[in-house]
Amino acid sequence: SSSDCALQVCVVGSGPAGFYAAQHVLKLQKSAIVDVYEKLPVPFGLVRFGVAPDHPEVKNVINSFTQTMHHGRCSFYGNITVGKDISVEELKQAYHVVILAYGAQDNLMLEIPGESLHGVYSARSIVEWYNGVPGIQNLNPDLSCETAVILGQGNVALDVARILISPIDLLKKTDITSYSLEAIAASKVKRVLIVGRRGPLQVAFTIKELREMVNLPGARPLFNPSDFEGLREIIKDKPRPRKRLTELMVKTALEKPSAKEAKRQEEAAKEWGLRFLRSPVQILPTSDGKHVAGIRLSVNKLEGSGESLRSIQTEELEDVECGLVLSSIGYKSHPISSSFPFDNKKRVIPNHLGRVLNTPGLYCSGWVKRGPTGVILTTMNDSFETAESVVKDVKSGSLNLSVPKAGFSAVQALLQQRGVCLVSFPGWEKINEAELAKGAKLGKSREKLSNVEEMLNCVCC
Ligand code: FAD
Repeated sequence: SSSDCALQVCVVGSGPAGFYAAQHVLKLQKSAIVDVYEKLPVPFGLVRFGVAPDHPEVKNVINSFTQTMHHGRCSFYGNITVGKDISVEELKQAYHVVILAYGAQDNLMLEIPGESLHGVYSARSIVEWYNGVPGIQNLNPDLSCETAVILGQGNVALDVARILISPIDLLKKTDITSYSLEAIAASKVKRVLIVGRRGPLQVAFTIKELREMVNLPGARPLFNPSDFEGLREIIKDKPRPRKRLTELMVKTALEKPSAKEAKRQEEAAKEWGLRFLRSPVQILPTSDGKHVAGIRLSVNKLEGSGESLRSIQTEELEDVECGLVLSSIGYKSHPISSSFPFDNKKRVIPNHLGRVLNTPGLYCSGWVKRGPTGVILTTMNDSFETAESVVKDVKSGSLNLSVPKAGFSAVQALLQQRGVCLVSFPGWEKINEAELAKGAKLGKSREKLSNVEEMLNCVCC
């Protein structure tokens, strides 16, 4: 039957979406050969470059991804940008199945005056800086001010706030980049305000990240009690996660702390707070017009309820003095080929259960499929769904498998012609060893190589 011949599958992107799709196809389809292509010389996407350095337990999924790469029918090809070094069309020629899992790399912009001032960054670029995305070492964010404002109230906002005001001792043994560790140690930032356009019942962060902030050594919460009055009544009937999350905020804002906690808070040199019902209107410049001096926020009110709840700006404005503005308002994907559908409004690849619309043989998974929300587990479930669609299409005969495909050997020939140097999984393992050794010398779990050249030197390709 058609499912007996080798099914050549390739996956574009080696984050959770790529790995989980590969893993599940290999498990369900014994005839499948799966090649994973990655833009960077190193695998794992946001598990390596997004997840906070002080959350090493989250990165344990790397062990299972590594097992997948050691599977006899699976290969990794890093340092290949699909859409530049090789096109999706060429991959479609070489493989029966192409799964696009390249994530959401672009930031949503604030689109307000002052966004280009010195001292304004996307939270994502700060994350990339402390997590060592190749080439970003020279970002040198200006941490010479006392107050930072973060726009957005999701987990990434809390991650960035926590890293900025954590005691350096909590960071120095992690895999945070040494250059950022040095900059954070010298930082003058002592107050972080995390601003959301809606209210405390709409925050997008989760309780684990909030609890870490509440208990962060050397930092005290700076809440406005009036934001939380009466909330206990309202949350009675809310789902449990929302209820527990809100209770922790209410307790922190309204309850008298124990004597020990009060002392801790009093002695803390740093502070952080949540600000609600505020939208950025303008970033205010210093008198020379170059640097951030503050941010103008509109005071909002909420209208509607449930899914249709919206924040509406009122006439009232509020200026907050600060020297650093970090926007953490979300991401978007971009198309990597003009010959396949892309939904420019939702910024995802239009699909049905992972099947790209009107394009047999092309699939998608992860953030590029459902949009840039959700944790690794959500991404796993979503990628399993895509893998199941692939396997169903093999079984039903709707994929044309009568023509054998050359798979990697066809791609290899093209890459050689173009002078592209690829990094295999054993190549990544050499980089990994170099990073672990560098880290051990510094008393850290890892010291990431900070640019592509250094990585390629390590694999001598
Ligand atoms: P990605 O992880 O972004 O992977 C996409 C991969 O595709 C990348 O490796 C990229 O280099 C590659 N790529 C891009 N373009 C191309 C191209 N043209 N050719 C080839 N390859 C390409 N979830 C948790 O559960 N716990 C956390 O603590 C957590 N922290 C997070 C922190 C941050 C800052 C962010 C942004 C997210 C965090 N998440 C966390 C969410 C989690 O990272 C995502 O759910 C998940 O990574 C999405 O997987 P993905 O594979 O779709 O995207």
